[in-house]
Amino acid sequence: MRIKARAKINWTLDILGQREDGYHLMDMLMQPVSLADTITLTPAGELSLSTGGYPKLPANERNLAYRAAVALQEATGCRRGAAIHVEKRIPVGAGMGGGSADAAGVLAGLNRLWGTGLNQEQLEAIGLTLGADVPFCLRGGLTRTTGIGEKMVSLPCGRCYDLVVIQPCRGLSTSEVFAAYHEKENIPRPASDNAQQALASGDTALLATSLGNVLQAVSQDMRPPIGEAITALKQRGAITALMTGSGSAVFGVFATEEDARDIARSLRNHWASTFYCRTCPESLIITD
Ligand code: ATP
Repeated sequence: MRIKARAKINWTLDILGQREDGYHLMDMLMQPVSLADTITLTPAGELSLSTGGYPKLPANERNLAYRAAVALQEATGCRRGAAIHVEKRIPVGAGMGGGSADAAGVLAGLNRLWGTGLNQEQLEAIGLTLGADVPFCLRGGLTRTTGIGEKMVSLPCGRCYDLVVIQPCRGLSTSEVFAAYHEKENIPRPASDNAQQALASGDTALLATSLGNVLQAVSQDMRPPIGEAITALKQRGAITALMTGSGSAVFGVFATEEDARDIARSLRNHWASTFYCRTCPESLIITD
């Protein structure tokens, strides 16, 4: 079984509060993009993991793909095995949810391969124990996510967008970014309702003025190349450009596929980790 597990971007990221247990209450508009890892699942007596692609991650039991398989075994009592291979393409520590996408792909794929018969809601509940973005990666589509990642509303999207994604520097620690966020004042916030409306109608002017990510200012302070990459995308004609998740990847929205492909090609000379991609309806594509 082959699974395409897609990365995501945050059109918006806002923080509404913090629970007593430390979890942040978020408000995010997220959507899958065509940049994807490929997971292969082969029936086997035991669970095993191998990794390839770039960046090459250690194939150990801390990998979210492996942890997802163990979580499914534990939730269902199923003792079947599988050889899991993850071919990486999504940048790591980029705010593109690569680990979450892999976890979602393994959960959905093994649920089918093992015939464990969990429904979407049950899979999403297991996914949430692995990471806040896993339920979204299981569902896909343009989604507004609140709470700690468990409250999701699927939304209509008027059109597909051509993007240039850059990871201009190494990954950031999500917990350090959140800690720095609490020290910073006067952070501009996204107009999330307007962004939702802009995405539904395909109104790019409204989109450009309503997107935003409250973690961008602190991530930029910690890693100046993030701000430099956003400026470079805007200078090359992006309708808008901003950071995704807690960084370090940023993306620019371009008017046409040709523009986006040309800009990606030219910026790759400066930032090797530069990709053309487009927004997509589904986050997982499973082929038997
Ligand atoms: P998010 O947007 O969900 O915060 P991210 O894109 O910032 O995620 P990931 O690429 O998902 O970050 O990786 C975060 C951490 O998870 C890294 O330290 C990485 O080593 C670890 N990890 C474990 N398994 C995976 C996997 N299959 N793919 C990517 N990272 C993984």
